[in-house]
Amino acid sequence: MKKEKRTYIKDIKKGQVFLQGWTHDLRDLAKIKFLLLRDISGIIQCIIKDKKLFKKFSELTIESVISITGKAKKAIVKSPEVTQKELEVEVTNIEIINKAEQLPILVTEKDKTITTDISKRLDNRSIDLRKPKVKAIFIIQNEIMRSFREFFAKQDFIEIQPPCIIASASEGGTELFAVKYFERDAYLAQSPQLYKQLAAIALEKVTCIVPVWRAEKHNTPRHLNESRQMDIEVAFIDDIQVLKYLESVIQYIVKNVIENCKEELNVLNKKIMVPKVKYLSYDETAKMLKKIHMSVQENEEFDSVHEKKLCELFPDTLIIIHSYPSKAKPFYIWPKDQKKGISGGFDALLGGMEISSGGQRIHKADILIKNLREKGLNPEHFKHYINAFRYGAPFHSGWSIGLERFTMALLGLENIREACMFPRDRDRLTP
Ligand code: ATP
Ligand code: MG
Repeated sequence: MKKEKRTYIKDIKKGQVFLQGWTHDLRDLAKIKFLLLRDISGIIQCIIKDKKLFKKFSELTIESVISITGKAKKAIVKSPEVTQKELEVEVTNIEIINKAEQLPILVTEKDKTITTDISKRLDNRSIDLRKPKVKAIFIIQNEIMRSFREFFAKQDFIEIQPPCIIASASEGGTELFAVKYFERDAYLAQSPQLYKQLAAIALEKVTCIVPVWRAEKHNTPRHLNESRQMDIEVAFIDDIQVLKYLESVIQYIVKNVIENCKEELNVLNKKIMVPKVKYLSYDETAKMLKKIHMSVQENEEFDSVHEKKLCELFPDTLIIIHSYPSKAKPFYIWPKDQKKGISGGFDALLGGMEISSGGQRIHKADILIKNLREKGLNPEHFKHYINAFRYGAPFHSGWSIGLERFTMALLGLENIREACMFPRDRDRLTP
């Protein structure tokens, strides 16, 4: 899909332009004044020569929202910040729509020595969002979500809206936020897992993009307490078949970002490429890590140090680790080889970290009950879920990509908070 070119010119009458935006920068050279006006499409230079406008100019502050009437001319002076290189505007009138007070953080990044720390930036996120680099991240994230939806819509997947308030844990863990639900206890969903399964055993191919909440107390650069997941769940296919969708959609998304977000990648100074794909079994991966003298806990998920190392070994690659031990995977993952204790569960790594997990699911009530017990969970608490598989449920598989995690991995961001517009973490609930 072609992105429509955003334009500055809102009204043209005999070469006249009418512009609305933010006062990005002001330069006062006594006889002539310069104003850089910014809107979502970029920055244009405006020149004030008319003495009658000098008083109005002196009232302007950085980030004030203004409207400008003027004549568009061929640009002469080209400052590096200006993105509209062809035209500049000779101003005939200025209206102040909303005068900005003293700013808590700067939007211009002229002085590279002044960097605001992330916490202060997040406290003032709506100002922070006006920075070209920050804006670029969210325009790219929009392209990621748009491409994801487009890819699956083209293949007749049904987009569903699972509930976000649930009665019991979907992953079996304890990391849940409790909420009062009238006279009962309920929780914020930590995953749409069980509901997308219930949908897939009726609708065959489903997808969703939903928020999830995890009450993990740790504060890491890769974890949020509220994040978004891009998921699919498909009936009549196994773990290896559902991985084909993962490969293809990731490559489709990255291809679209490269094609449709050239400007944004430029602003971020990022060169990205469509990742290659490498399949490894859990055993192969463990052996490979042991060979380079890294310790691996038997039957446990690989940790962040392992993930980083693997991505160094296979750069620009989507690494898929399949055939995980059942012990390392949640209760709903299909036991592919019961004797060997191998499951149909997998993880996918990109850019130094896990970006996705998934697997073939259990579609039989008796096996589910057995697995729940083995994991120390009470099947009574999962009655509705278990019962759904008693009335004709096909085998099915699915996965989940963390939206912020994927954005972070793709763009090589240092902190996941850069990829979340209004992050919720251990210390932050506002703005
Ligand atoms: P990790 O081991 O990296 O903490 P996980 O295995 O607990 O993640 P999953 O339950 O597999 O997470 O969730 C699916 C995907 O959602 C992950 O692969 C990741 O991309 C993303 N994700 C999981 N937890 C978080 C979180 N706390 N913050 C941001 N993204 C997350
Ligand atoms: Mg995982």
